[in-house]
Amino acid sequence: MGIPLASPSRLASLRGRTPTVATLCSHSSLQIFHGARVEGFPTLGLSVGPPPRFYDAFPLARPDRFLSVPTVKELAALSARLREEGAVIVPHGSFVEYLGAEAFAELDVPVFGNRAVLGWESDRRKERDWLESAGVTMPKLIDDPQEIRGPVIVKYYGAKGGKGFFLAKNREGLEEFRPTGPYVIQEYVLGTRYYMHFFYSPLSDRGYRVGHGSIELLGMDRRDEANIDELYKLGAQEELLKVGIRPTFVVTGNVPVVLRESLLPRAFDVAARIVERSVELFGGMVGPFCLEGIMTEDLEFKVFEISTRIVAGTNLFISGSPYSDFIEPQLSTGRRIAQEIRRGATEGRLAEILS
Ligand code: ATP
Repeated sequence: MGIPLASPSRLASLRGRTPTVATLCSHSSLQIFHGARVEGFPTLGLSVGPPPRFYDAFPLARPDRFLSVPTVKELAALSARLREEGAVIVPHGSFVEYLGAEAFAELDVPVFGNRAVLGWESDRRKERDWLESAGVTMPKLIDDPQEIRGPVIVKYYGAKGGKGFFLAKNREGLEEFRPTGPYVIQEYVLGTRYYMHFFYSPLSDRGYRVGHGSIELLGMDRRDEANIDELYKLGAQEELLKVGIRPTFVVTGNVPVVLRESLLPRAFDVAARIVERSVELFGGMVGPFCLEGIMTEDLEFKVFEISTRIVAGTNLFISGSPYSDFIEPQLSTGRRIAQEIRRGATEGRLAEILS
């Protein structure tokens, strides 16, 4: 038996009924609804304003019903209604970002995964404490600009989609930086970016065992980031600055990638250590998470960020990925979430996967 995350009162609305899988109509919601439907769950789409019309174009991913509110803030007041519906909320990046981490943490509705993880993920310093104390290598943090010995990246706090980040080739280059909010300075790591989609199940008793359960690798992508990804076509940064173009990292899409097979042991080792440490620190990071890092030419994987819920890059793999195909055919992350809820309900262990 694993660690209970939810009290019996938090789960009272689910007693004796099939849960309804609910999420905000955005980000990876098509995948979440599709996966829930395949696993036989009723689905509920939460929309801000009228239900988005594009769902009509995707009948296999359209939620059974919609619940609409005029503004995003009103979602926070829907708890009682969602409990009546027997809803389990599946969080995704946009859900937490739009509602705000605090309002999300206070929703009085069962949520898939451990909401205690939010406090560790949303603060870059706490995130670093967690990952480094798990023995993970991260890009070096620079507290004093005098320590700068090479290119650096300046990043603002919170998930800003890479907006407003500043790159400097050296210490002199940083003098032009004018901060507009709390930020950190990191070494700029040269290498290849990988965004690895893992899933930690505390209920599973087979596979790659970690903590009380096991981890699975469900897919991998690389993000297309405007306009940095195309900069090489136009030449060096200095030339662009002359015409007033600054590089940004705004995500515009995703492409599938696979890792050299000989590097997979390292990827699993890093993921396992992060999960083990999360169990010690806050009872465990349950469900999907994404390790976002850079493989250097020395084959060192430096993790610059962890996303502790389903990421949009998983949308590439609705009918499986080169990794999930070795676990089960047609296994998307959305479907894997639904399977975990079903197992938790069947075995009377929902308290270990909902909070
Ligand atoms: P998101 O919300 O989309 O995850 P974010 O605002 O949290 O973005 P990060 O994910 O930390 O920001 O970084 C955005 C992008 O900046 C990365 O995808 C990567 O391309 C680049 N990046 C971040 N840190 C580094 C680093 N130390 N070295 C090189 N590139 C980096």
